[in-house]
Amino acid sequence: MSFGSNLTRVGFTDPFRTLGHTLAPMAIRELMLYAERIFMFYGRYSNAIARKVKYFLTEPVFEGDGFSDKEATELSVYLQEHHRIISFAGEMSMDKQCYGNSYATLLVPFKRFLVCTGRTAQGQRHKICGFRRLLSEAFYSEDFEFRFPNFYSVCPICKIKTQNDIDDKRDDRADQLKLKRWSPHEIDILYDPYSTKCHYLWRIPEEYKNDIKGWKPNKGLHLLENIPKNVLKAIALNTQFRFNDDAIFHMKDATYGGIENRGYGIPRVLGNLQTILNVQVIRKQHEAICMDFVVPLRVVSPSQQITAPVGGEDGHGTQSPYSMLPGANIASSIGSMLARWRRDPASIQIAPFPIQMQLLGGNAQQLAPKDLLEYGEAGLMDEVDVPAEMWRGSMQLQAMPIAIRLFESSNKNIPDDHNAFLRWSVKRIQQELNGQVPSRSYFKPVTIVDDEQKRQLLLQLFAGGQVTGRRAYKALDMEWRQEQEGLADEAVEMSEIQADTQRKMDQRGLAGSLQPGATGSAMMGAQGGGAAGGPAGAAGGAAAGAPADPSQAGMAPNPKPVTSYLQQTAGRVPNDPQELQALADSMSTQLVETPEPDRNSELSLLRRFNEFLHELVTKRMEKYRSKIRSEAGNQAISQLQGGGGAAPPPQ
Ligand SMILES: [Zn+2]
Repeated sequence: MSFGSNLTRVGFTDPFRTLGHTLAPMAIRELMLYAERIFMFYGRYSNAIARKVKYFLTEPVFEGDGFSDKEATELSVYLQEHHRIISFAGEMSMDKQCYGNSYATLLVPFKRFLVCTGRTAQGQRHKICGFRRLLSEAFYSEDFEFRFPNFYSVCPICKIKTQNDIDDKRDDRADQLKLKRWSPHEIDILYDPYSTKCHYLWRIPEEYKNDIKGWKPNKGLHLLENIPKNVLKAIALNTQFRFNDDAIFHMKDATYGGIENRGYGIPRVLGNLQTILNVQVIRKQHEAICMDFVVPLRVVSPSQQITAPVGGEDGHGTQSPYSMLPGANIASSIGSMLARWRRDPASIQIAPFPIQMQLLGGNAQQLAPKDLLEYGEAGLMDEVDVPAEMWRGSMQLQAMPIAIRLFESSNKNIPDDHNAFLRWSVKRIQQELNGQVPSRSYFKPVTIVDDEQKRQLLLQLFAGGQVTGRRAYKALDMEWRQEQEGLADEAVEMSEIQADTQRKMDQRGLAGSLQPGATGSAMMGAQGGGAAGGPAGAAGGAAAGAPADPSQAGMAPNPKPVTSYLQQTAGRVPNDPQELQALADSMSTQLVETPEPDRNSELSLLRRFNEFLHELVTKRMEKYRSKIRSEAGNQAISQLQGGGGAAPPPQ
């Protein structure tokens, strides 16, 4: 404010002394309430912030020595399905954006037992007892009593009403653990300025305290069953409940180093308050204009210009309606007319005089400060670092890689906070479950722009054998090992199916020979025609040129057709379906001729390269093989029939 006072001295007012700055609450609690109100009632602002946060929400990843892929998957499934960890991180993050602070703890539920102390309510020791039962069992017995903060019930062994101790058994089953978000309004921080260490206190809400203290018979089991012993103690001592230091996670918005914030984050809204207020003034104006001017004011009145003919003493003449009826009667008759019309818009109304209607207002379109609002909000979004495309929800990622990269780097604190929260939750949960803590836990980084290019590059490198399968598969969110095992399983299944088919074909090959040549040659003709009709590309040409009988091939078949294709075309797949068919034809005719180990490796390379093409090729190879087999069968039969005569030509 020093430059402000200098300005005042020379006769100017401080330009920073605006309404916005005067209204800004300076106490952290008030500021949080203010921020909450803005987030609740200014949807466009909070939505823009939410989009920014959600942009960074991705799947969690766990890594570490001795932490297997299987364990990582299990942990990830548990966290996502049971704890909704992704949404939860987003909710924490939104709390931070709103209040500047968000807090979470892990709740470990317990079963509460009551143990008889053998002491009466007056403190006299009756005898040493120790009878133990669930609170929920004792609760509905007739003489159960909760005299804050002690439990009393009639002990079946002592036969008198005794005071009960609490004995809680932790229920640390994985599906019982629960992450809890705390209201930032209720958390107080004890702050040490030197070490910057924070200790956290829960200001127990009065309503909750009163519910516990004002216990009534047969009511409030859910409260008494679940209130931790230490919270009960804190209420009894009328103090705050203090969390264990590592039991609570605090996410806070960083602010400037010079600002005294005593361990709290400062709500981000403070920095945007001036602009938010400006926009809000326009919004309020907008509302007022909409209320007053969208629907025009309709006024109905008897027409004064045109006078009505009336039957007077002389039988005719013209007169104003006012001279005929008192004003009040006119108004009430118009009023009941309008009421009848409201009830039934199709009804016909009768009036003893002409009526006119005037429209007043209705020009909201011209009056509403749309441009001002648009301008104000655009400025506000710049302030909170949300790209206009994002708050309008019309983000086209490919079109704006640089803006996105800038957006990602200027909001780096968001994924950093998400990751810190993930690390804390995993550590806390594994502590309770006696599980291993992975050395690295993080949400998969978002770099959508880079990813798309990188993914394509990786696949090309992989096809060329320049990069490991593990690396390339990871870019596709697939596990290399799983896929390889799947492939091996499929290969076994495939060979079983093939053996089965072979057996069936052998049987059918003999049966089909009763009409020699009919089915076989028709099929071949159709196939040949289809291939020849394709475009005369390199692959199409090869297919068309390949005769049906591979032994008569004019050119030596390539032993590695897939490898050489990938090398020649750098992994391009034809878009044209005919070209694709022709390519499949040429590959299959060559692969049928390829000896066994090479053929398998070529086929698996093809599968990795393009599943669809692989399927086309294997289907063709199957057809080819069965054709050859049935031809061989025909030949054998005709040899038998013709007594060893010459075989009929295959075509
Ligand atoms: Zn007892």
